[in-house]
Amino acid sequence: MSRYSAFSLIKNALSGHKNWKRTWRAAEPKPHYDVIIVGGGGHGLATAYYLAKEHGIRNVAVLEKGGLGSGNIGRNTTIVRSNYILPANTRFYEHSMKLWEGLSNDLNYNMMFSQRGVINLAHTPGQMDAFARRGNAILLEGVDAELLDTEEISRRVPGLYTGQNTRFPIVGGLCQPRGGTARHDAVAWGYARGADKYGVDIIEHCEVTGFIKDGDTVTGVKTTRGDISAPKVAISVAGNTSTVMKLASIDKMPIESHVLQAFVTEPLKPLINTVVTFGAGHLYISQSDKGGLVFGGDLDGYNSYAQRGNLPIFEHVAAAAVTMFPNLARLKLLRNWGGIMDMSMDGSPIICTGPLPGMYLNAGWCYGGFKATPAAGWCFAHTIANDAPHALNADFTLDRFYNGRQLDERGAGPYPAHQ
Ligand SMILES: Cc1cc2nc3c(=O)[nH]c(=O)nc-3n(C[C@H](O)[C@H](O)[C@H](O)COP(=O)(O)OP(=O)(O)OC[C@H]3O[C@@H](n4cnc5c(N)ncnc54)[C@H](O)[C@@H]3O)c2cc1C
Repeated sequence: MSRYSAFSLIKNALSGHKNWKRTWRAAEPKPHYDVIIVGGGGHGLATAYYLAKEHGIRNVAVLEKGGLGSGNIGRNTTIVRSNYILPANTRFYEHSMKLWEGLSNDLNYNMMFSQRGVINLAHTPGQMDAFARRGNAILLEGVDAELLDTEEISRRVPGLYTGQNTRFPIVGGLCQPRGGTARHDAVAWGYARGADKYGVDIIEHCEVTGFIKDGDTVTGVKTTRGDISAPKVAISVAGNTSTVMKLASIDKMPIESHVLQAFVTEPLKPLINTVVTFGAGHLYISQSDKGGLVFGGDLDGYNSYAQRGNLPIFEHVAAAAVTMFPNLARLKLLRNWGGIMDMSMDGSPIICTGPLPGMYLNAGWCYGGFKATPAAGWCFAHTIANDAPHALNADFTLDRFYNGRQLDERGAGPYPAHQ
């Protein structure tokens, strides 16, 4: 496969861009693989890539029921940060951040990774105290954090209303300067291209409809394109985790599926050059390279497998956006959509062996799975290759929900919709 370079761009321009090779092959399923990965989202593709690159395991199939990138990897608001408070989460997400920092070079694919900073706004002195505690916890882990006063925020985010004549005046904020955004589709395409280069079969429109078992041991999958066997079957299906696990007769998972919406406005000249979150409600907003403002907020608040949402959440996030940036009030909304979120009961993910022999599980990503993509793939590949977790995902077990060792990142208790 040719590398992308200035030279290949010029060469292909001279032939009218008609001779570019496919980014990945349209592979046909084989009857047997060393590893089957169910789910061709960001995590499944990253897992395949790191299995091949880091562990030399290349006889791998990624089975995707739709088109590649049609799940949450192509639906998120692309925020990347590693400012989590619990050490297990901080270390894991910081590993992801470091992988992000080298990802475009590693994959020879432009991720449009933009470390424009993520600013979380505080609206009460109590919230500022909590941010100072979070910032200090993060700094102790060697991760970047800055506490900002209102004047500094006003300087960094010119359109933001920082006056006092509002219900929730801004009193300061916490910034992670290395946080930012990346192009979500490029992440899927880049990992797919990288995995394909190593010989991984990416098989689209191939839905897993059942598991083949020998006693309790999973030995393969039934699919809409025939049965496929493998000694290792890895599940990475995000919001569909509960339904796929049910196919293996595992009826109860500590995960709820909820809709989360994203919104994009008509394009504007550069206005917001960072990511900002509203601390008195739930809203995160940034500006895409095409100029549209990209924003989202809370879950729709009911369990659903529909990839679209309803108006009350739109009204809620639009109100928060206008509270923060009054000059957005007359903007037109161009698009909105929803994705199915795999909300775990403690706000932290699961990357582990099991729960059945021959099975491996990556799930429970809540709001944080996009930024986790590189590290989730990296750690999941390690877990599959070694039949044991890496130190970075050793705490992300499934049985923590049975033995009480939960990682309650938000301190909200077992309420998935609040994570
Ligand atoms: C609106 C929205 C905004 C978000 N914003 C952010 C953000 O700003 N930052 C952040 O870090 N995270 C964000 N997230 C979360 C993030 O997108 C997800 O956590 C992450 O993408 C999940 O991992 P994935 O990419 O592998 O999932 P997906 O892309 O959903 O991949 C799972 C795949 O499994 C496939 N599948 C399901 N069942 C089967 C089956 N039976 N057989 C075969 N294939 C199957 C699906 O079709 C899907 O393609 C957001 C999510 C949404 C919806």
